Amino acid sequence: MTDLHRLSIQQLSEGLSSRQFSSRELTQHYLNRIEKIDAQVNSFVTVTPEFALSQADTADVAIQAGKATALTGIPLAHKDIFCTQGIKTTAGSKMLDNFISPYDATVVAKAKAAGLVTLGKVNMDEFAMGSATENSYYGATKNPWNLQHVSGGSSGGSAASVAADLAPFSTGTDTGGSIRQPASFCGLTGLKPTYGRVSRFGMIAYASSMDQGGPLARSAEDCAYLLNVMAGHDAKDSTSIDKEVDNYVANLNQTSIKGLRIGIPKQYFDVKGLDAEVRARVEQSLKQLEELGATLVEIDLSMVDAYVPTYYLIAPAEASSNLSRYDGVRYGYRCENPQDLNDLYRRSRSEGFGAEVQRRILIGTYALSAGYYDAYYVKAQKVRRLIQQDFLKAFEQVDVIAAPSAPTTAYKIGASLDPVEIYLGDIYTIAVNLAGLPAINAPVGFDQHNLPVGLQLIGNYWSESQLLSIVHQYQQVTDWHTKRAAIAEENA
Ligand code: GLN
Repeated sequence: MTDLHRLSIQQLSEGLSSRQFSSRELTQHYLNRIEKIDAQVNSFVTVTPEFALSQADTADVAIQAGKATALTGIPLAHKDIFCTQGIKTTAGSKMLDNFISPYDATVVAKAKAAGLVTLGKVNMDEFAMGSATENSYYGATKNPWNLQHVSGGSSGGSAASVAADLAPFSTGTDTGGSIRQPASFCGLTGLKPTYGRVSRFGMIAYASSMDQGGPLARSAEDCAYLLNVMAGHDAKDSTSIDKEVDNYVANLNQTSIKGLRIGIPKQYFDVKGLDAEVRARVEQSLKQLEELGATLVEIDLSMVDAYVPTYYLIAPAEASSNLSRYDGVRYGYRCENPQDLNDLYRRSRSEGFGAEVQRRILIGTYALSAGYYDAYYVKAQKVRRLIQQDFLKAFEQVDVIAAPSAPTTAYKIGASLDPVEIYLGDIYTIAVNLAGLPAINAPVGFDQHNLPVGLQLIGNYWSESQLLSIVHQYQQVTDWHTKRAAIAEENA
């Protein structure tokens, strides 16, 4: 059974329930692959073999007893931003290198309750701030399609672990593109749900008004299985919405592409940094959708120039507040031999946080300080409202909006981009978070260097079923999502 890692979630579910293989065999298969291959990829921060195998044994008993859910016994990897009881949760930071949470995040608890097996915790940009997973204390995660290139970020470990077939699917979070952009860079399907669909309880906070968890997987179908587990109201998260959860798997064939109105924001395709090959692949995928019966409608999203300045004001402002809890007193990193309380704060935070996190804390603190608050923070909030209204107006005309997920494919590790260049790379994803909308990335081809290109579809509030269904239909007639990186071909 050397090719268990080739099976879809549905095939894994069927294989387990018909006893073609046990959860222990499946889990061991993935653990072997991680051991053999991950040194090259660096997608895992922590691998939990003993815990995984004991969960697998419990799953096997449940399957024998006829008490299994569709996902019982299937392994997954959690982004290292979700708190896991008894297992280190680092958020990619030296600050939390020694942090073991006393409780599980709701997403983790739900995964456990569904019988999923935790392989370990995967790498990310420090506190989810970044677009390449180069800002991790644990080193960059490499792109399985080309190990010289970045995996994207901040959920780079989530994406790379799946793209290298080291996990069948993974959890991620998306505050400004951190599910969609790494999914795009690694040739995966990734969904950022509507703000409030997935509980943020136990998910380490970056920018709380935008943070949202979601699945990364090979296909829309695989994402639907994981979203079925992740989604739902949670009394422990006041921003989680009490709204019935769809059965995303059952709804996969719900939306027909025939008659679908897809909005094409003309400003998006005029963005200066948009790579010609990315543009060509995305346009080709839109043509395919047109051939399947969709209508392409040119729309206006005129606020595009405001996206980067607005997001990079609000996100750091919220981050500076959220990260004030890391003071070296209660938990996390503490400097050696503090002279007094101020010295303890100053050195613990200077030594515990990396450069990008410090930059954002400074920007955010500045924007929130007396005298600047109205000029920067309040103004950004007003612009945020305009951006949201721009989308709502567009949804009066169209069902979904199409865009690239990123202006380029994965760039080289250490490409020494300055922060502003990196921020500009988020232009297609961040407005969705400012507005709280759901959006999905689907792989739609490769550039000349064989690096994946992604199409983003943005939906109206609570349209997760529709987005998954559209991509599912597309994946029934195309095979981009079945392509494997060379490293994923290696057998353990
Ligand atoms: N790249 C964006 C940032 O650095 C988005 C990150 C995210 O979604 N967590 O803030």
